[in-house]
Amino acid sequence: MRNFVGYPYRARLDEIKKKRVKKGQVLFRSKPFCYILEYGCQAQFCENCLVNIKDHSLPLTCKCGRTRYCSENCRQVGQVIHFRECQVFQRRPNFKPKNLTMFMARIIWKLNAGGYEISEKIDEKRSRRFRDLESHIPDIKKDPSRREILINLRHELRQLVGPNMLPSNPELVAIYGRVCINMFALLDDQFDSIGLALYLAPSIMDHSCCPNAFVSFQGKQIVVRSLVDHDNFNWNKVRITYIDQLNLNSSRREQLLKNYYFLCDCPFCKDDHRARMQSSINCGNPACENGIFIDLDVDDDQPLEPCHQCGFSDLSADVRSTYRGVITFTKDTLNGMSESDPCPDMVSDILDMQGELLHPLNAWRAKTLDAFLTAALARSCWTVALRTMRQNQEAVKWYYGSDHPNYGLFLVRMGRAELFMTEHKAAVDHLYMAQDILEVGVGSAHPAMHAEASNLLIRASGEMVADMKRADFKFHLQRDKDMKNKLGSSKTEGTVPEFG
Ligand SMILES: [Zn+2]
Ligand SMILES: [Zn+2]
Ligand SMILES: [Zn+2]
Ligand SMILES: [Zn+2]
Repeated sequence: MRNFVGYPYRARLDEIKKKRVKKGQVLFRSKPFCYILEYGCQAQFCENCLVNIKDHSLPLTCKCGRTRYCSENCRQVGQVIHFRECQVFQRRPNFKPKNLTMFMARIIWKLNAGGYEISEKIDEKRSRRFRDLESHIPDIKKDPSRREILINLRHELRQLVGPNMLPSNPELVAIYGRVCINMFALLDDQFDSIGLALYLAPSIMDHSCCPNAFVSFQGKQIVVRSLVDHDNFNWNKVRITYIDQLNLNSSRREQLLKNYYFLCDCPFCKDDHRARMQSSINCGNPACENGIFIDLDVDDDQPLEPCHQCGFSDLSADVRSTYRGVITFTKDTLNGMSESDPCPDMVSDILDMQGELLHPLNAWRAKTLDAFLTAALARSCWTVALRTMRQNQEAVKWYYGSDHPNYGLFLVRMGRAELFMTEHKAAVDHLYMAQDILEVGVGSAHPAMHAEASNLLIRASGEMVADMKRADFKFHLQRDKDMKNKLGSSKTEGTVPEFG
């Protein structure tokens, strides 16, 4: 699944025809061919418009008890998609098919109702239908884990869509292949995943680990914006990222090969220096900020290279085996934990074990601090969150890029923590930076911008002005005091000394 979405549509064809695209410009705005809300999000979001109904006093709950709507209008529109599954759930309240099964069922219903004929325009010359989507059927058939998923999927689908609607085996593999390769995680305003969606035209965009376009969502509508200026625009040059960039080059390439069946050859993946920094430790020379690459593919007794920057070569002989132990522990512990709700004590144990060994750009250190931040923010521990963000800021900027909206969102969180910790000047600086980045990546109407960055900025600026007024007031107060003291002492000086 494409976790970090983004895709083209027919937004500003007139502009794009001129082949000149400015950064921040919308490339695509597209409605989904199919979508679902994940389990756990159905109580919180309207099934139709995906507005957050947590605070709505009277959301409408469907007869099946699973889906909710923000209004009668949304209920009526939403029922067109939901009514088939609703009948099954009313009959079998305990039947809880997986998210993927729910998604596939909706695709099958849609295709059976003429979905194969639906097409979406990419530009004036090209358009896409469901059959045009990449399917990788031979790869899917050879993939043991996906073959196993297909067996379970078929079993659950039979119960959900019924045996008459269930496609033949080859057709099911073809549909599943297109879904796996092309579906997106639907993200909410905070870029957290709340569902799955498939878009026709936006599926033409290829991947890069250093993307030049960014995907965000307005409800279930996908919006893709260019992160760069193009003088001679061409859809073939548009790249979004399918996976999280905060990772080792080797892990990203492995993940892309496993899930999308291609070897990434983007500039980041080809950058050997980058790959070495991601697996480096701090140089033994305290005055040197360089990282020393530790190759775990060689035996522990092999000598280490000296620091390329300062020539330091006096690292202890067992540093490679120590590093191997730290990385194994980090990897095993992090992989065994929920990404959205990591255990703070366990992450703290990893950080203790890492100590000062890993370089700030080491991927495993950055991922550990990221998990620690998630845990701290979930518990509103602002002091810890701010300290963690400061430790990880350099790495987050380096992995995503200084103009990437994920870094913008990181700066919003940093600004919020600083505001809370009454570090108003730092908050204002970071929120200004965040606003500039998010304006390009998600536009000024996105809630991450107007409800987050801008509002926090207004508050932080107000607090900063109040700080300045307080400082000014204190200064004047002190000056008056000093003056009085001076006058008092000069009076004393002027008085006739007492005689003992
Ligand atoms: Zn709604
Ligand atoms: Zn229902
Ligand atoms: Zn890459
Ligand atoms: Zn050095």
